[in-house]
Amino acid sequence: MTDDMTQTYVIDVIIVGAGICGLMAARVLKDAGKEVILIDKGRSVGGRLATRRIGEGAADHGAQFFTVRTPEFGVYVERWLAEGLVFEWSRGWTDGSLIGTRDGHPRYAVRGGMNQLAKHAGEGLQVFTDVRVKAVRSQLGRWYVDMEGKGQLAASAVLLTPPVPQSLDLVESGGVGLHAEDEAALKAIQYEMCLTAMFLVDRPIFLPSPGAIQRENANIHWIADNRAKGISPEATILTMQATGTYSRQLWDQTDESILNAFRVDVMPILGETRVLDAQLKRWRYSRPVSVYPERTLIARGHGNLLFAGDAFGGPRLEGAVLSGLAAGKVLLDRL
Ligand SMILES: Cc1cc2nc3c(=O)[nH]c(=O)nc-3n(C[C@H](O)[C@H](O)[C@H](O)COP(=O)(O)OP(=O)(O)OC[C@H]3O[C@@H](n4cnc5c(N)ncnc54)[C@H](O)[C@@H]3O)c2cc1C
Repeated sequence: MTDDMTQTYVIDVIIVGAGICGLMAARVLKDAGKEVILIDKGRSVGGRLATRRIGEGAADHGAQFFTVRTPEFGVYVERWLAEGLVFEWSRGWTDGSLIGTRDGHPRYAVRGGMNQLAKHAGEGLQVFTDVRVKAVRSQLGRWYVDMEGKGQLAASAVLLTPPVPQSLDLVESGGVGLHAEDEAALKAIQYEMCLTAMFLVDRPIFLPSPGAIQRENANIHWIADNRAKGISPEATILTMQATGTYSRQLWDQTDESILNAFRVDVMPILGETRVLDAQLKRWRYSRPVSVYPERTLIARGHGNLLFAGDAFGGPRLEGAVLSGLAAGKVLLDRL
């Protein structure tokens, strides 16, 4: 469709963010015949479902595993299991001591790394990667999305799936005034930061089966061996996550000094092992600490502007999926 005012081609929906939420929403819309474009500033799809290659190996450095809490999500997971895309990794973790803390609930991971789930969900979808959205504007009933160095796109609806503070920046830059209640609810959503280190080491490391520990009262509360997980057969790479409090404490230090703090902390686990490469990922918005009560927020007074993501469906992969599915269905009803 062409917009008379600007001669711009108008598609049905632009989705900002090709994390798992945006991808699931796009899938719902595309399957119903809608024209959808996803835009993501990352080099590939996935957002916080992130897997990085280091040397000959690979490491998950965002989400580590996922659980199933609703039958709705369970249907997808059954399908992914049958396709061989995901596998059950564990039924809980120990803290490294002899006292077990396994609770019996399955934790799933993705063959080849968590990012493969996003790649799978994105198959056949139209995605612009490496493109940062600068602003989202509304004019005469149309939505315009301004991209850095790439002009603009127009659509009948826009779905914003970045972490909420980043989505709010986009509408603010485009001069979209939100209803006071929506604005207050969105501004109340806060995220925990998470410093994540990855160490490529020169020999196998011993972590209790199946290769990860979760330590409740430690600064580095998660340590996983990507080789034992099965995603890095050629190299041993540890993924380590600091707690929100410890991440905040270290955040302003240099990468080198943060990596050193990790190294000192996990020294007893590393033992004589030599670290061949150490990399840091700073997740400013790792997980929402509070969640909006609905799976998507339809901006009042703005027609087809929606917000979605894990801050709407629950602070985990499953929540992001459920939010994306809900937003896709809402948009289908409205278009
Ligand atoms: C360190 C860490 C560990 C985690 N561990 C787990 C776990 O073990 N289990 C679990 O279930 N969950 C875990 N999570 C949470 C899980 O990863 C998220 O809940 C889920 O991936 C969120 O998906 P999303 O699509 O809502 O958001 P995202 O994946 O963040 O997607 C949003 C996308 O928007 C893009 N974007 C942002 N701004 C712009 C812009 N201006 N222009 C263009 N694109 C933009 C981003 O690049 C990103 O790809 C973890 C997260 C982190 C960071």
